[in-house]
Amino acid sequence: MSHHPTSAPPVTGKVRTRIAPSPTGFLHLGTARTALFSWAFARHYGGEFVLRIEDTDVARSTQESVDQILEAMRWLGLDYDEGPIYQMQRLERYREVAERMIAEGSAYRCYCTPEELETVREAQRARGEKTHYDGRWRPEPGKVMPPPTGVPPVIRLRNPRDGVVTWDDLVKGSISISNHEIDDLVLVRADGVPTYNFSVVVDDWDMRISHVFRGDEHVNNTPWQINIYAALGAPQPFFGHVPIILGDDGLKLSKRRGAVSVIDYREAGYLPEAMLNYLARLGWSHGDEELFGRAQLVEWFDGSHLAKSPAQWDAAKLNWVNAQAIKHTADAELAELVAVHLARRGISAPTDVRLVAMCALFKDRCATLVELADWLAMYHGDLGARDAAMDALVAAVPAAALSALADRFQQVEWHQVAIAAAIKEVLASQGLKMGQLAPAVRVVVCGRPQTPSLDAVLALFPRETVTARLRGHGVAGYN
Ligand code: GLU
Repeated sequence: MSHHPTSAPPVTGKVRTRIAPSPTGFLHLGTARTALFSWAFARHYGGEFVLRIEDTDVARSTQESVDQILEAMRWLGLDYDEGPIYQMQRLERYREVAERMIAEGSAYRCYCTPEELETVREAQRARGEKTHYDGRWRPEPGKVMPPPTGVPPVIRLRNPRDGVVTWDDLVKGSISISNHEIDDLVLVRADGVPTYNFSVVVDDWDMRISHVFRGDEHVNNTPWQINIYAALGAPQPFFGHVPIILGDDGLKLSKRRGAVSVIDYREAGYLPEAMLNYLARLGWSHGDEELFGRAQLVEWFDGSHLAKSPAQWDAAKLNWVNAQAIKHTADAELAELVAVHLARRGISAPTDVRLVAMCALFKDRCATLVELADWLAMYHGDLGARDAAMDALVAAVPAAALSALADRFQQVEWHQVAIAAAIKEVLASQGLKMGQLAPAVRVVVCGRPQTPSLDAVLALFPRETVTARLRGHGVAGYN
């Protein structure tokens, strides 16, 4: 029976999923989303999730990239039950499977030199044909081809010449690709390193992967993989090809257009649970639900309602999701998190009750932890630059009013209620309105014209900092 992608996919036996990043760069958002889908699917069905590092592109794979991938997985909380498994540690196994295929007639050695292959391709191009391997080493009944000496062979798949490869994609529905359109793929290169399509099948088979979620750039690879499964007599997993993520500008997300590394978002002050929430909604939905946590995602994510069309990145929405997550994070936890961002600016803030109270006061106004750190910097000597508009707000109030406020502050108990009363007294004695005095006080003490309730904001400064800044207004430098 044909599977309809708006319903949950067939699940029989143990669910095992995997993410198989190539360590040629950071863990980018697209891969993180696929990892998230694979992880949530496995967790939903009580299955297992495997991390495999596809490091066969030896020239471009780096340990640094592996480390970054592991770090990003950890940050997002995508825990895996097995791995990381490195393909370069499994070369023997690929060789063994390839030899078995040669013995069984589903693969063969090809001794073409790169120059020969190029000549073939040139001729095909000249005839206006799509370039493909011309099958010159493909074994056929009665064909005798003595191998040349000194040419290290590659191993090729003896791909069926006829027929159509069809599968029920978990995301895209039924897909068919004719064998006429695909050639005899290289399985193992001359140096013994397998190609992606071969190692991925051997691994998914050996690791008993039941459902493969991956980016839809791999749709064209899947027919080869299915043919390899068939040649091996191996059970074929279900495939779900997830559409790409488009940037705000409608083009494919890429490094050139803004950050696409998961870790960059940590640096920019996003919370992992917000990232997880936002990424899950890119190409998947559960009714109208926009805000949900990890446990809820696992409960809902049964593999249904994966979108067929590309998802669009929406930075404003991510900020909204992150702002909600910040709002719902306990103040003490936020203090720990924001301390890291303050430290980056050279501010070492103890995570004490004062920092916790600051987080409570400002967290409703922040889309990111960086914005929260921006607010809190004023408590640590960093007032930033003052512009002409801010100068004008200060100039609109007599300097005497500000020193009168400093004097009054000197005499009261230093807490919010007393501070509020002191401000009222000075307003009365100076004949000023709150709307005049408060902006000037904010500029000289906080370095910005707007803040939450002034008394609450001031109460979190040491009294001496406030009085010194009030007295020193108009002087270059604040401290
Ligand atoms: N290494 C491949 C990639 O990063 C894995 C594709 C797959 O999941 O099969 O695109």
